[in-house]
Amino acid sequence: MTMNAFASSNSPLTREAMEPFWLPMTPNRQFKSKPRIFVGAEGMHYVTDDNRRILDGMAGLWCVNAGHAQRRIVEAIQAQAAKLDFVSSFQMSHPAAFELARRITEIAPAGLDHVFFTNSGSEAVDTALKIARGYHRAHGDASRIRFISRAKAYHGMGWGGLSVSGIVRHRRDFGPLLPEVDHLPHTHNPEHAAFSRGQPQWGAHLADELSKLLQVHDPSTIAAVIVEPVTGSGGVLPPPVGYLERLRKICDQHGILLIFDEVITGFGRLGAAFGANAFGVTPDIITCAKGMTNAAVPMGGVIASGKVYDALMQGPDNAIELFHGYTYSAHPLACAAGLAALDVYQDLGLFERARRLAPVWENHAHGLRDLPHVIDIRNIGLLAAIDLKPREGAPGARGSECANRCYEDGILIRGSGDTLLISPPLIITEEQIADIFAAIRRALTGIS
Ligand code: PMP
Repeated sequence: MTMNAFASSNSPLTREAMEPFWLPMTPNRQFKSKPRIFVGAEGMHYVTDDNRRILDGMAGLWCVNAGHAQRRIVEAIQAQAAKLDFVSSFQMSHPAAFELARRITEIAPAGLDHVFFTNSGSEAVDTALKIARGYHRAHGDASRIRFISRAKAYHGMGWGGLSVSGIVRHRRDFGPLLPEVDHLPHTHNPEHAAFSRGQPQWGAHLADELSKLLQVHDPSTIAAVIVEPVTGSGGVLPPPVGYLERLRKICDQHGILLIFDEVITGFGRLGAAFGANAFGVTPDIITCAKGMTNAAVPMGGVIASGKVYDALMQGPDNAIELFHGYTYSAHPLACAAGLAALDVYQDLGLFERARRLAPVWENHAHGLRDLPHVIDIRNIGLLAAIDLKPREGAPGARGSECANRCYEDGILIRGSGDTLLISPPLIITEEQIADIFAAIRRALTGIS
């Protein structure tokens, strides 16, 4: 008997059966009365418990870059699980960990030579912030403790990442957070740069806000600036032309480390291995996760420059240079998945594919410009966001209605407030790109 990958394996869950699972980032009470349950996934599609195929316009959550259930990745995980399931991260490791670190440094920008493994993007960000402080302390600059990030930034849910995040809703209920944090303004300005295609021409000067902050705080108190090269969850905000270069220059002038949070932009989303490669600006530290294993096993990482790594290696002999790590750092299954994912990206030429499809993607996205409620559209690589005018008295309603209609129509996109976010697997075809934007068109013309 052959197994149908799309066969429904579960009878519908009762409310009672759902009760123990406290879903993250979900209104649990609402969800449990009308759940969306997936029972399978393959390539570009999810399969629901009522056996519908849903085209995945989000690559899961910006992460399944090579599409679902890639056979080589599945087999690599299975083989690794049978061979070596776990190794402690205390003075032990295994060959796949060294190999994956080497492969990642090969595709990272030149000079980013060392990888510290974590299990998620949040852990990668917290690790990077600790490394930044450690770097300055190693230089005798223990007063450099302050971090600078940006409004609308998302850097995960750990205390460090939350402290530098700029999404107010995420921070609101959990204070006090790390106090030594300042936020630069975000770069989204529809008045000057609405409907920009790719990087907006307007806005590089906003990097100079960093210089202004340095007049408030002495630069000798600043450890690092952390930015997503393209703000992701905050609404797909590509950096204005010249902006990242300016940030890099100011950081260099004042001995401040620059961290790129590439949890979304890493592993091909922008048509290059990392955003740093795509924009030609090299940070001192990159954080990554998601596409690192094609999301098949949780994994994150911090890629550090030789300068940062070497500073931390200067301590006394036999001392642990960075007293930090996780039980599952460089987990064998994650490393096996990571190596297989890199093979798949390479063999299918997916980074180049994303670069080649980006203009097609852009044209489809901006083809929605004249539809009702649309007030801005942004895109870069295989990322897009569509801002809708909020309905009076009901902010967020249009966004969620539109995303729900797309889902009923067989297309998964994300409604975040009144912004529609789209980020498909890089294996997407031109026809499927057309299908996604056609579904959004139908949804938008159908809502009030
Ligand atoms: N940083 C960025 C830029 C992200 O987009 C995310 C997740 N969307 C994170 C950090 C956190 O990653 P994780 O959810 O794996 O902890």
